[in-house]
Amino acid sequence: MGFTFFLLILTISSVVASPNPFNQIHLLMPHSGSAGHKHSNLDCLSWRLAVETNNLQKWKQVPEECETYIGHYMLGEQYRKDVDLVTEEAYEYAKGLNITKDGKDLWIFDIDETTLSNLPYYASDAVAFGAIPYNATLFNEWVEEAAAPAIPGALKLYKQLIELGFKIVFLTGTEEAYAEARTKNMKDVGYTTWEKIIYKGVSDGSGVVYKQAKRKALEEVGYRIRGNMGDQWSDLLGTNPGDRTFKVPDPMYYIG
Ligand SMILES: [Mg+2]
Repeated sequence: MGFTFFLLILTISSVVASPNPFNQIHLLMPHSGSAGHKHSNLDCLSWRLAVETNNLQKWKQVPEECETYIGHYMLGEQYRKDVDLVTEEAYEYAKGLNITKDGKDLWIFDIDETTLSNLPYYASDAVAFGAIPYNATLFNEWVEEAAAPAIPGALKLYKQLIELGFKIVFLTGTEEAYAEARTKNMKDVGYTTWEKIIYKGVSDGSGVVYKQAKRKALEEVGYRIRGNMGDQWSDLLGTNPGDRTFKVPDPMYYIG
């Protein structure tokens, strides 16, 4: 009886005292980009590699057993290094282009997880780095806050490209209804000038269809898309992809 009571108290106190694993993730997780070998069934590094190479498609959410792994990856150094390598390579490529500075050389950036980071939202309990199914209402509330930080490597590249004479087009899946909040967010974090920001209209269709149509329209009026950067393959596939594409990592969600 006494022992059972002790166990009960112990159980209650550990539930009460149990820290929120995501609010405290910065404290709990080493910023090393761990490979997470806890789970034997699914190798989460293999899963992430398959996601990044577009071998896995149409996935709905991060596998439950990879939630911790993806959390480590996104909050750790590895994600930042992976982004920086892409943006640095993009700059090397852009520097080597002999652009005419006639105002027609474009660089296209996606927004979410390419130029702005939704990581503060994705690290929350309600999202669990994408291990919980996408909730449009919650995500749109986050977008309305206009509080997404810039992705440092992308912001640096953006400034370098402007210096080189490129015109910047942000082509985003964000719907027009959120244009005001998003534009404010972009300006607040340092993306202060652009040729266009293209928001998605209600009749614009899905990821690839929408984005290729907008790129085609840009080329039809005389722009040259010299580079195109996104976190989703649907930013980069389809017609009129641009002279060279750059994929930045995103193991948290899939947009087809
Ligand atoms: Mg994106």
